Amino acid sequence: MKKTLMTILVSGLVLASCSKNQTADNPLLQEWDTPFQTAPFEKIKVEHYLPAFQAAMEEHNKEIQAIIDNAEEPNFENTIAALDYSGATLSKIAGVYYNMMAANTSAELQKVHEEVGPLMATHSDNVSMNADLFAKIKKVYDAKDKQQYTGEQLALLEKTYNKFVRSGALLDAAKQEELRKVNAELTKVEAKFDANLLQETKAYQLVIDKEENLKGLPQGEIEKAAALAKEKGQEGKWIFTLDNPSFIPFVTYADNRDLRKEIFLARTNRCNNGGETDNNELVAKMAELRAQKAQILGYETFAHYQLEDRMAKEPKNVFNLLENLLSYSVKVAKEEAAQFQALLSKDVPGATLEAWDMYYYAEKVRQQKYNFDAELTRPYFEINNVRQGCFDVLTKLYGITFTQRDDISVYAEDVLAFEAKNEKGEHVGIMYWDPYTRASKGGGAWCNEYRGQSRKDGKNITPIITVCFNYAKSPSGATTLTADEALTVFHEMGHAIHQLLSNCTYPSVSGTNVARDFVELPSQILEHWCMQPEVLQMYAKNEKGEVIPQEMVEKMEAAGNFNQGFNFSEILAASYLDMCFHSIKAGEKVNTQEMEQQAMAKIGMLTQIPPRYRSTYFSHCFGDGGYSAGYYSYTWSETLDADAFEAFKQTGNIFDAATAAKFKTLLSSGSTKNAMELYVEFRGAEPDLNALLRNRGLIK
Ligand SMILES: [Zn+2]
Repeated sequence: MKKTLMTILVSGLVLASCSKNQTADNPLLQEWDTPFQTAPFEKIKVEHYLPAFQAAMEEHNKEIQAIIDNAEEPNFENTIAALDYSGATLSKIAGVYYNMMAANTSAELQKVHEEVGPLMATHSDNVSMNADLFAKIKKVYDAKDKQQYTGEQLALLEKTYNKFVRSGALLDAAKQEELRKVNAELTKVEAKFDANLLQETKAYQLVIDKEENLKGLPQGEIEKAAALAKEKGQEGKWIFTLDNPSFIPFVTYADNRDLRKEIFLARTNRCNNGGETDNNELVAKMAELRAQKAQILGYETFAHYQLEDRMAKEPKNVFNLLENLLSYSVKVAKEEAAQFQALLSKDVPGATLEAWDMYYYAEKVRQQKYNFDAELTRPYFEINNVRQGCFDVLTKLYGITFTQRDDISVYAEDVLAFEAKNEKGEHVGIMYWDPYTRASKGGGAWCNEYRGQSRKDGKNITPIITVCFNYAKSPSGATTLTADEALTVFHEMGHAIHQLLSNCTYPSVSGTNVARDFVELPSQILEHWCMQPEVLQMYAKNEKGEVIPQEMVEKMEAAGNFNQGFNFSEILAASYLDMCFHSIKAGEKVNTQEMEQQAMAKIGMLTQIPPRYRSTYFSHCFGDGGYSAGYYSYTWSETLDADAFEAFKQTGNIFDAATAAKFKTLLSSGSTKNAMELYVEFRGAEPDLNALLRNRGLIK
């Protein structure tokens, strides 16, 4: 997942300025005399954020006012570029703040967000609805055909102009006021959704006090569960949670069907239990507000609004893609379910296959059919080896090397800082590596930026980024990963390299500031290298330094395409659900549970396969996830990455220098060019959908 910081565009709001003293003592408002201007985390306290935001907003207001007050005729430099470079202090503070919200939060920080969230939303509105500023932008935009702009300048000009128009700059005052109200309401509802989800996710734990209930679970998982119980003051017991690295092993291996059911239902009913933290009404409210927003801005639905500046362009293209792929995946999922049912019938005569049996019997069939036990590969995926393997792949492909820097401040235990350099030994960026789960961290895995790449006054501003995971740290010795977890490392590192290779001038078009349905191409393509035999040779080694046996690799490959019906259907179902919620018309009322049932019925989904994320915890689309009418992007990008990786394969060398050089160009271009144009320049043609179907083993 690529998280997005809230769009930082601020002006116009009069704020109480904080006293000189507060400013002077506030580390967020000082120049950082640290390596590469990385954040001095040890100095930053919760109480520093709000006054820092306020002061930085004030500074940004002045910068914007200076653009407006400039007596010169508006041109690209004094208006478009000046605006894009403005607000650097605010970006710096937001960079720390939103990353801490995601990776190291606390009740106090959440509390600050109740003020900062709406403040930032209002600010963003104030800039994008600033009529004087927009008048200048429009003047530059309207005269664009008379100027000789570079491709990058033109891309920024279009992006800036469209951003304002899409935020309501062309609306009359009454409509703008209406839009402001909707945006403010949305921000509140989104924040509440996220807070509820975090609370319910963290609140649940499956406590096991009888050893017999652990039957079927691998020893490593049992040890982790025991360590967690000890940490929570329940020594001698075992605790499992709803976080993937704990939940997935449990539903995959635990023989106790009742307990599988319990944890499965706890997970899939998160925020769907009534009471204070129920998200059903919030989801409905968000869908309704977004439809209203779209209508105010002149769009048929919110999905139309969202897709306009993406590769997909309009909802029907997404629905077509999803329905096409579902026709393959559901068919295969039914065949898989029949196999699972047969095994279940042997174990529990007369029982009907349920959702909490899917992972479990999938693993059983995998072991039977391929004689492959995924747990046996674990010793070969020690977390530091996986990281180094990924680094080495990036060095071979793009010449980027990574060195650990112990002189850079970090915000939590086990977080490491790495410096990235290019083949000439020049500094290209800093990356934090934050692998383990902890109470203060949100779930899942992501890559995010503290500072994006850009160039100003001839100086290259290098990126500072982070990759975060939620792996359970082994209580004793090495932490090992499953093959899937190793893939996730490569995935997030794919986003990281997209940032680190960025070679653009303007912040808004650099790095991962690309179309949402293009942004997962760099991350997903890197996953392809992870399990290639020649790459496994490089890093997949056990404690004794022995490389993963060829026979195991072959089995893993054979088993690799197994269970794709179930797996892919889960993802496609979630994408479809997201599109349904965001395809309602303004004024339409939504019942969250009914919407879900209808969407699943429409695509003929098996009752045993709920969407990968159900509505009440679908934080990609609701909450502040940034993927509303956008979860399909993973699949859209997959059509690109499957096809793009075939370009490497077809040369007979997955490290082919010429192909890597072309892909490096794509990675360094940000959105200085249209995404499809960039892709076609790399590949010579638009992507072929069959590459994806082949890659998932859904066609031969
Ligand atoms: Zn991603």
